[in-house]
Amino acid sequence: MSSTPSPYPDESDGYWMHYHDENSQKLADAIIKYAVERVRMDPPPLDAPKSLSELQHEVGNTITAEGLGAAKALSIFTEQLAPSCISVDHPLFLSFVPGAPTESSVLFDLVVAASNVYAGSWLEGAGAVYAENQALAWLADLAGLPSSAGGVFVSGGTAGNLSALIAARWQWRQRGRGAHARVRPIILASGGAHSSVALAANAMDADLVAVPTDYANRLMASDVRASYDAMSAEDRVRVCAVVATAGTTNLGVIDDLAGIGAFAREKNVWFHVDGAYGAAALCARSVRHEFAGIELADSFIVDPHKWLFGPYDCCALLYRDVRIGKAAHTQKAEYLDVLIQDATAQLDEAYNPADLAHHLTRRARGLPFWFSLATHGTEAYEEAMEITLQVTRDAADMVRASEHLEFVVPPSLSILVVRRKGWSPDDYKRWSDRMLHDGIAFVMPTTHQGETVLRMCLVNPRTDPAQMQMLFDSMRS
Ligand SMILES: *Cc1c(COP(=O)(O)O)cnc(C)c1O
Repeated sequence: MSSTPSPYPDESDGYWMHYHDENSQKLADAIIKYAVERVRMDPPPLDAPKSLSELQHEVGNTITAEGLGAAKALSIFTEQLAPSCISVDHPLFLSFVPGAPTESSVLFDLVVAASNVYAGSWLEGAGAVYAENQALAWLADLAGLPSSAGGVFVSGGTAGNLSALIAARWQWRQRGRGAHARVRPIILASGGAHSSVALAANAMDADLVAVPTDYANRLMASDVRASYDAMSAEDRVRVCAVVATAGTTNLGVIDDLAGIGAFAREKNVWFHVDGAYGAAALCARSVRHEFAGIELADSFIVDPHKWLFGPYDCCALLYRDVRIGKAAHTQKAEYLDVLIQDATAQLDEAYNPADLAHHLTRRARGLPFWFSLATHGTEAYEEAMEITLQVTRDAADMVRASEHLEFVVPPSLSILVVRRKGWSPDDYKRWSDRMLHDGIAFVMPTTHQGETVLRMCLVNPRTDPAQMQMLFDSMRS
């Protein structure tokens, strides 16, 4: 018998980090209780950020040699850290693009965490990937993509745009048969495109050509064509993708998808549609026609974590021909043409999500969205979408009826950009700060063409027209 003590813990050590005992049971009960209370809050407290020094003072250091114990660590989160984060699902969180996850999606996210499925491969995550793919197929269907379409849930629109544009470059290089191997690609996009498109171009060492938009801030095919025609012959062969936006983040504008898509077809150039925010509204009959042409996309993205009532972090990335996504991203195929040809020639329907974007390991982040969609059905999504659109229309009528407010640009989708007549940038800031400080609303001033204005983005079916009226009234004085 060895006299050295066993390195393995036993119950008498009170070691439970990898074992279930009464400590973990207590924690489980406390966490479920917290989660249920949090998702039930209607509305949740708006809350507000604290400065680093305030947090250092109030929370201090949390990482210690002995550990704080679960009760203490959890209470630090619930009492101090969570209240220092703004609740994106507060009905008057109208800055940036808020979120409004359904209860079922959030609760199911707990299940996804507990299951910890490796959803990078079919081998390890078949069931989860199967379900994710049904949710993706619903989106592909709404966009009118053919049955060759397929995709993957990535972390966000930024990751989705990058992966789509990498696939565009892959196809352009394939078509060049070696001629483009050392050529910098060009991406055409509007000045109103999301900053992540420029970031993707930068990451890919591609040149981004910003095409001017029309009077309504819309990217038109005629302007894409004019920019293209103005290029030198050498530059024209460098164009690997045209990016259109289906609902710009700032203004909610939907570009001329049909015209730009047709132009891209004509030039044999990849057509990517960034619908991170706006394409969610495809499920609403009242606005679906505004997306005409999205069916021409070679790739398209939409974020369920924005306006499709899912939790972070979740972007649906779809390829018209999923085989191209696979050929462009499969890690082992990257170096070998034989493998790439093989990969495009025959794609098992049971493909690996890891092979469709710039990533490998991934959580089954599409499952909370899938679960909610499976639970409530697609009609409930259409209904919730129509509600947010109707609240936006009602709020727009209030702006038109008011004397102190006016539109800077016409409302589009669920975005209102409003001027308070006579206000200076300081007036906007004071009002915005007061609304956040008082826990009423989070509406940050932004600028449009150099002018300070208020931009409000509505994605929450619980945002009530009466609250919008109250908000507008608070800007009177
Ligand atoms: C929000 C947004 C993005 C970026 O999405 P993330 O999920 O924040 O990475 C890209 N494009 C558009 C149009 C967006 O609105």
